Amino acid sequence: MTPQRLPSLRQDCEARRDWLVDTIGALARIESPSGDAACLDRCGDAITRLLQETGAEVERLPREGAGAHLRATLGTGPRQVLLLGHFDTVWPVGTLAQMPVAISDGRLHGPGTFDMKAGLAIAMLAATLVRSSLRDLRLRFLFTTDEEVGSHTSRDLIEAEARASVAVLVFEPALPGGVLKTARKGVGVWHLDVHGVSSHAGIAPEAGASAITELARQVLALHALQAPQLGTTINAGLIDGGSRSNVVAEHAHAEVDVRVSAMAEQARIEQAFAALAPHDPRVRLAWRGGFERPPLERGPHVQRLFTMAREAGAAMGLDVREGATGGASDGNLTAALGVPTLDGLGALGDGAHARHEHVDIASLPDRVALAAALLLALDATAP
Ligand SMILES: [Zn+2]
Repeated sequence: MTPQRLPSLRQDCEARRDWLVDTIGALARIESPSGDAACLDRCGDAITRLLQETGAEVERLPREGAGAHLRATLGTGPRQVLLLGHFDTVWPVGTLAQMPVAISDGRLHGPGTFDMKAGLAIAMLAATLVRSSLRDLRLRFLFTTDEEVGSHTSRDLIEAEARASVAVLVFEPALPGGVLKTARKGVGVWHLDVHGVSSHAGIAPEAGASAITELARQVLALHALQAPQLGTTINAGLIDGGSRSNVVAEHAHAEVDVRVSAMAEQARIEQAFAALAPHDPRVRLAWRGGFERPPLERGPHVQRLFTMAREAGAAMGLDVREGATGGASDGNLTAALGVPTLDGLGALGDGAHARHEHVDIASLPDRVALAAALLLALDATAP
């Protein structure tokens, strides 16, 4: 496709606006919370039909307790591009009753619209629009069912497909204004268990070793590891422990969220957890957990792909910009492998994981146009 055809690509996408709204609305009406295999499979069946309409061959990849992931292939070109997304949502069954799919003020509201059923619709329509123009590319869709709960049953699949790809396009929501995501923090969760020695707080306090006191000191020590200027933050967001105020606490527990922007920081934090030692020798510490997703670093591989997207957008009169976010996605996994990855190609809107979740309808066609133009650029040159 020549640059002269690109303006008409935007018009073609504009003409599909109703299809986009109908499709996103229909998918949002099929509730699909992480962990509910029956609901996820029902939504997966609807997505399978949509993938088949693009001309793709669809495979169901069932996983215990998680519903089937969907993998689909469109075209036979020698180079693979991965179009990555998820159709699980954070919303439990029944949410639709309080948060119905509805249009108002140019917004399509509903659970899972923004994060990220709109992204799936955008990816599928972009593929449909470019499929007959592709010479070198084979499009591989991977739509998974457990992204919101850490991708434990899909990670191997995501990484294998990424390794076989020249680029990974992630259709998670865009940053405000449609800004693409070229940096995401890595996320880790640790559970810290402190086993102390109980005693009577009045009669024999010296015989006890308080798990709560120890945990308090450990939490302060952990928080001291933060390096906000490097993007490293630590939050002990949950603690519990003890049994009664007149008992020196035998047990205490904390759940700690860690975010890092750089691999080197990930290693530093991992070492610090591995080296945790009690201040009071009568106390025993145990921890489990670790990084669920590494940081998506804005390395040269990510920058090259973003530059392609910016140029593809500019050729159509779109101003494409990049930004960073503290949240992780499956793009973190693929970028960490060194595979060019661009995230945030999904919808504009707001309210991911929030009651006001919605997508901005007017902006949907240009998201499709951008994705389609990027696919055409990738067909012409490697990132
Ligand atoms: Zn998401």
